[in-house]
Amino acid sequence: MPSTGEKIHNFRSSIPSNIKLVAVSKTKPDSDILDAYQAGQRVFGENKAQEMAGKYESLPKDIEWHFIGHLQRNKVKYIAPFVSLIHSIDSASLLTEVNKRAANENRIISCLLQFHIASEESKFGLSKEEAFHMLESKEFQELKHINIVGVMGMATFIENLDLVRKEFKRLNSIFIELKSTFFSDNEKFKEISMGMSNDYQVAIEEGATMIRIGSLLFGERNY
Ligand SMILES: *Cc1c(COP(=O)(O)O)cnc(C)c1O
Repeated sequence: MPSTGEKIHNFRSSIPSNIKLVAVSKTKPDSDILDAYQAGQRVFGENKAQEMAGKYESLPKDIEWHFIGHLQRNKVKYIAPFVSLIHSIDSASLLTEVNKRAANENRIISCLLQFHIASEESKFGLSKEEAFHMLESKEFQELKHINIVGVMGMATFIENLDLVRKEFKRLNSIFIELKSTFFSDNEKFKEISMGMSNDYQVAIEEGATMIRIGSLLFGERNY
């Protein structure tokens, strides 16, 4: 069995070097994260605010922590002091809360808008119309402590990669439309976070700049 460090190393050399690898360490102990860290991995993804805050406290401070799951507004305060990217902005009210907590910390927090691209009901995310509405609003213009740097989406969890590809194409086209409508003079708006263990190859082909990989690197999760 290859170690976590070896898996990270092999995985990294199998993907283009310009793709940012978010190692999804949710539910995994500090020791696994340190193995990955020692193999050079610095970007980790978590989906529970308090779990992420605990790991931030105990692990090396040059780790970039990415929040990747649905984020409740009352949990933003736990991660606002240190989070480096929130992938999962799925409402205007969440964005407003992130802005408020970032202001308290004297920070500007980078965020991705999460879009609902899957055919499953259960997944969170904005529709294109909701995003337009939000970005056009006066309230949005007043948020000085957040920085929208791109989009994120999760495809349907299914073997049928043709459907997955269609969904990733859709996210890419939303990205292009937002870029030209709202962010044409903002060079920081450039990220497309899509692709997990089962579909990252399709995601890369369809323009992902960041992929979020958990089980392929750390093994199956036990909840
Ligand atoms: C858990 C999770 C991942 C990683 O999933 P794997 O299938 O283990 O690679 C990626 N993105 C989000 C939003 C997740 O919750």
